[in-house]
Amino acid sequence: MTTVTQAYRFALDPTPRQRRALASHCGAARVVYNWGLGLVEARLQQRRAGEEVEVPWTLPALRREWNRVKGEVAPWWAENSKEAYSSGLDGLARALKNWTDSRAGRHKGRPVRFPRRKRKGRCRDACRFTTGAIKVLPDRQHVQLPRIGILKSHESTRKLARRLEQGSARILAATITRTADRWYVSFTVEVQRAIPQGNGHDTVIGVDVGVRHLATLSTEATVPNPRALQRSLRKLRRLNRQLTRRKLGSKRRRITRDKLARVHARAANLRRDALHKLTTTLAIDYGTIVIEELNLAGMVRNRHLARALSDVGLAELRRQLTYKTGWYGSRLVVADRFYPSSKTCSACGWVKAKLTLAEHTFTCEACGLRLDRDLNAARNLATLAQHVAQSGWETQNARGADRKTHPAGQVAVKREPSSPLLQRA
Ligand SMILES: [Zn+2]
Repeated sequence: MTTVTQAYRFALDPTPRQRRALASHCGAARVVYNWGLGLVEARLQQRRAGEEVEVPWTLPALRREWNRVKGEVAPWWAENSKEAYSSGLDGLARALKNWTDSRAGRHKGRPVRFPRRKRKGRCRDACRFTTGAIKVLPDRQHVQLPRIGILKSHESTRKLARRLEQGSARILAATITRTADRWYVSFTVEVQRAIPQGNGHDTVIGVDVGVRHLATLSTEATVPNPRALQRSLRKLRRLNRQLTRRKLGSKRRRITRDKLARVHARAANLRRDALHKLTTTLAIDYGTIVIEELNLAGMVRNRHLARALSDVGLAELRRQLTYKTGWYGSRLVVADRFYPSSKTCSACGWVKAKLTLAEHTFTCEACGLRLDRDLNAARNLATLAQHVAQSGWETQNARGADRKTHPAGQVAVKREPSSPLLQRA
């Protein structure tokens, strides 16, 4: 048995009064974050001017300062649970630490910027509760949060409730978030799980996610988008076009933007649900699953809708497979992001110099192969896994190897540990 940290997320059906309370808590977290950031900046300024002042950098230090002045800064503070203020300051302390770590070279990826103010309507509305009455009620229809009280859950909490009743789970925290106009609660839960050593299959499968299809498998099967998702994606494209025609700052633009946010959220939910079905099947039925690594830096900058959507799909696919392969004993291989899976011919290994997103068919100029673009990519990923499997796992964990010269099979591959990983909400 191993202890894993897992998240359970449920959509909520709050009453109008509860909606106001949820928004108030998230607002309080944002206000205190900005207040703390202002304080840190002011103290840094003072220090630069040669004054001997303490700069509150950690959660306890920030909390001390906050408790001293909250009566003046926010006379309304008692309206919200104290967890709202802890949550905001905790977010700030983490952001400050990330920045320091990044400057000291202890942070992977792109440099982290100094925290910036959170703007209402622009930042994510969220508030985390770590103490107090955090409960999933036995009727499986309601949850309880400090100060906000008993909230109706939009979906059954049965999966979590069952574990709590059996005593194989413990709630560590609850986070409320708003996406478009829907509220969610996500419980961070410590769960006892049996971790199997392998699932009895030595088969390999490559998976490529896309926009036109949910996924393409190296077995030549395509997993179609559910019809509802297809409809949402069409709506998304239409609204996106509409948005570009709306005048900046106009009321109609705001209406379109809100509508777009709702459709976006719905599409993401539909895709997540569909991916859950797929990833469970894959993790149970195949010994090794190969996916592509996501280019996070490129993801942030890219504004192309199709690219953005498939990146989100890939991130979700990876997130789900990471913990499900751990649960079912299969392995997840993440191909190095310099591995040109869609540009390489899956028959002869020839690499195309450039493949635009509009090209749906891969045509090999060396051997003449013509193949669906996604299928070609999925096949390359499966081949890659076979080579990796033959050459032994542990040796194949180098990253960022020479990106031009390696023939297929000697590509750097990162192996995901099959141990359970933290599944973030
Ligand atoms: Zn070829």
